[in-house]
Amino acid sequence: MTRNIIFFVLFFSICTLFAEHVVVRFDNPSDEIISKFTANEYDVASYKPGEYLDIVVPMDEYNDLLESGYSVRITQTEEQLKVNLNSGTDLAGYRDYEEFLAELQQIEIDYPDICKLYDIGDSWGKIYSDNGNTNYDDFQHEIWALKISDNVELEEDEPGIYYLAEHHAREPISLEVVMTVLEHILDNYGTDPAITDNINNQQVWFVPLVNPNGHKVVTDEVETMWRKNIRDNNENGSLNVTGYNPSDGVDPNRNYDWEWGGASTSWTSETYQGPSAFSEPETQAVQELMAAHHFVAGLSYHSYSELILYPFGYADGVIAPDQAALSELCTDMAVTISGQYGGTYTPQASWALYPCTGTTDDYAYGMYGIFSYTIELATEFIPPAYQVEDICLNNIEASMIMLDRTSHSILLGHVTDSDSGLPIQAEIFVAGIDDTGVYRNPYISDQEFGTYYRLLTDGVYDVSFQAYGYEAQTFENVIITSDDQTVLDVVLSNGSATASVSGVISDANTGLPIENAVVELLDYGIPAVTTNAQGEYTINNVFEYSYDMQIYADDYASIQIQVDITEQTTELDFDLYELDDGTFESGVLGGCWVFGGNADWQIDPTVAYEGFLSIRSGSIGDNQNSDIEVSLYVANEDEISFSRKVSSEADYDYLKFYIDGELQDLWSGNEDWSVQTYPVTAGVHTFQWSYVKDGGVANGSDCGWIDNILLPTSAIMVSPSILDFLSIEDCIDGKSFVINNNFDVPVTMNDITQTGSVFEWYIDDFNLELPYILEAGEELEFLVKVALTTENRSREILSENLIISTDNGNKYVTINFDETLNVGTEDNPLVFETEFYGNYPNPFNPSTTFKFSLRSNSQVELNIYNIKGQLVKTLINKELQAGFHSVIWNGENNSGKPATSGIYFSIVDAYNEGLDFTSIKKVILLK
Ligand SMILES: [Zn+2]
Repeated sequence: MTRNIIFFVLFFSICTLFAEHVVVRFDNPSDEIISKFTANEYDVASYKPGEYLDIVVPMDEYNDLLESGYSVRITQTEEQLKVNLNSGTDLAGYRDYEEFLAELQQIEIDYPDICKLYDIGDSWGKIYSDNGNTNYDDFQHEIWALKISDNVELEEDEPGIYYLAEHHAREPISLEVVMTVLEHILDNYGTDPAITDNINNQQVWFVPLVNPNGHKVVTDEVETMWRKNIRDNNENGSLNVTGYNPSDGVDPNRNYDWEWGGASTSWTSETYQGPSAFSEPETQAVQELMAAHHFVAGLSYHSYSELILYPFGYADGVIAPDQAALSELCTDMAVTISGQYGGTYTPQASWALYPCTGTTDDYAYGMYGIFSYTIELATEFIPPAYQVEDICLNNIEASMIMLDRTSHSILLGHVTDSDSGLPIQAEIFVAGIDDTGVYRNPYISDQEFGTYYRLLTDGVYDVSFQAYGYEAQTFENVIITSDDQTVLDVVLSNGSATASVSGVISDANTGLPIENAVVELLDYGIPAVTTNAQGEYTINNVFEYSYDMQIYADDYASIQIQVDITEQTTELDFDLYELDDGTFESGVLGGCWVFGGNADWQIDPTVAYEGFLSIRSGSIGDNQNSDIEVSLYVANEDEISFSRKVSSEADYDYLKFYIDGELQDLWSGNEDWSVQTYPVTAGVHTFQWSYVKDGGVANGSDCGWIDNILLPTSAIMVSPSILDFLSIEDCIDGKSFVINNNFDVPVTMNDITQTGSVFEWYIDDFNLELPYILEAGEELEFLVKVALTTENRSREILSENLIISTDNGNKYVTINFDETLNVGTEDNPLVFETEFYGNYPNPFNPSTTFKFSLRSNSQVELNIYNIKGQLVKTLINKELQAGFHSVIWNGENNSGKPATSGIYFSIVDAYNEGLDFTSIKKVILLK
């Protein structure tokens, strides 16, 4: 009996021993070792190029590495880190959550004029405990932010700077450094002129403990190698952070939403990226802070490596547009920080170290252009307590360089409206910077103040300011110097929508024009147009601007492209590629496919789900990807299906499927063909298949395959999808359209519903008996005529619909009567009623169109009055003929000055012998 118990205890302690984590070091690692051991499945502690690579592993994996012949040595153990945490002497060492919070609260009391403490979010522990789970009662931590500025209660028109620390639990030295920086500022505010100026003229935010739950796991020595937060991944309601493969926690520094999704998808991984971007309260808190304040630059502290990293970092070779200025500030800071054993910190682009996705810096810079840096402090996760003060003091100068960065080599100013003087959100484009490197969001002046800040290197730049509805302005030879700020306040004037774009849409293979292709300038409410029989389109009366333009047609891959419409008339022709049938049996990958990543997908003649051919991902190396995508217009709610097969390293190399950039599914390991189906909404969508590898191991054929893609089509295809009735002949002669059952099953047409409140339409010679079985592939042609009743001949018809219901999952097709019916001809004069239709758009800015019709020739006045009843503008005062009329108001009053924002009234008066007609409509001018 006693012997059994002893045996059991011994066995248990051996398990614990092997689950103990250690840092192991590869000295002078080869490229092969770097590539293998910086992959997602490894917990990389530090990498110093040319010196060493450190990874964290359980003890028994260390033994495995030795047995596999790797030359590694242990540099840090949990035992040693515990000793480092608690010096056992009178040294301060590391503070815990309670001490940290008490200090922040005391600071707020001691410096009420310049400090304000904010609770910016609950940790998971707080959330779980609030939900009644007592296992988390010791983890009821908040995420705290301290703001330092004069007028600290106000959001002022000033740049923001941030100092963040301890995203990673086992890096408490970062908290110590940021608290030291904070104390240094407070000690010197009011006496040091530079620090005083920088606090008075900036808004400085400190979040010294981003991950308070994880911090407690480390400071309580539950698991001193813990990195993540404590998200309850396995939902067992209790903390799982110890042992061999603890299941809880997300790595907050892999959870930000810029190129999120490339880090580990495994709960047990120390770099688990979370179930979705910004799934974690810690990253949400920082995100909300960034969104609410106009940050220009900031530091996020980690340990260890004695490095400073600047964005981007999400993939190899992702050079930031601001690389020169980012790197200059990085070096300026790095050379001031002494290393623990000589030398100074190393400045480096983040991607050049090893790629990782979802980081703070990539998000801050990609989203807002914030010059965000990671400082990797010290030479071990938790340096011994006696080194803490030294490391903190060594970092002050760099933090003050950051604090002072907006005082020089910067372009800043306000962008305002020439009429109202109000701020404008304009894009600030610096030539030679913003047209280089990989994508980040454009710099936009802020909404509240119209302020912008651009950190640059010294030199001479051409800078453009552009906002929708305004005339763009370019300033040449703007001088930036290291002595001072360069201030450039910009006033933009309203533009006029006189530009137009036109061109021809053709089939890329045949060169023939495509009729009924849709061309659209996105985001600004500009109506789409369709091509005529010659493939021609024209969009008139738009502002000169840089637009996203979308072109699509049935059975063709769509295109979305950014176009600059800068001339009065811009000619843009496009070729569309017809969609492949998705079986790949032709042996050709047509032009509708767009390849991305490091290798193209190819036809594979050796494997197929059906038939003989499929497509497979290209051959790629570590940390690479091979993408294929197609974009198309989907007329009605539908689905996409395809067969997929994968052969890869399980849980690390994946075949992934995305719709519009949103991950739908991912597969790894050895999985045979299976059919996948996903719902798709109406509209233009992009479908992407991507094979993605991390570093290191490759297994199986190391690729993914796709076959039998059934791209979404409507249950019933209707062409053309829009019927234009542009003339009376169109109404009388009718327009034909074709219904085609593109499903491979029959569809029952149950009902044909007629709608249309102000006019009648009918399908000529309609003689189908309902319900009608529309066989797979069957085509029906219909002729639609529009009958105008006498009393309704003057009506405008907008987007009335013909709806054909079917019983197949309630799918239906809609045909848009998308044009106005207001044209008579000599042979068929239309009899109009006298009516005032008001203006469109309404509210409007900068111009709007009034429409009215007259039954007979009349004397007409159309006047605009303000809300006090004062006449603002006379648009018409003359005799007009019977028929349809329209007039544009450009928002100017009778003196040619722009009218102010607000409510107006438009009044139409029409008289003749038999008529005295008056109608009043409200008009809203919005600026
Ligand atoms: Zn870290």
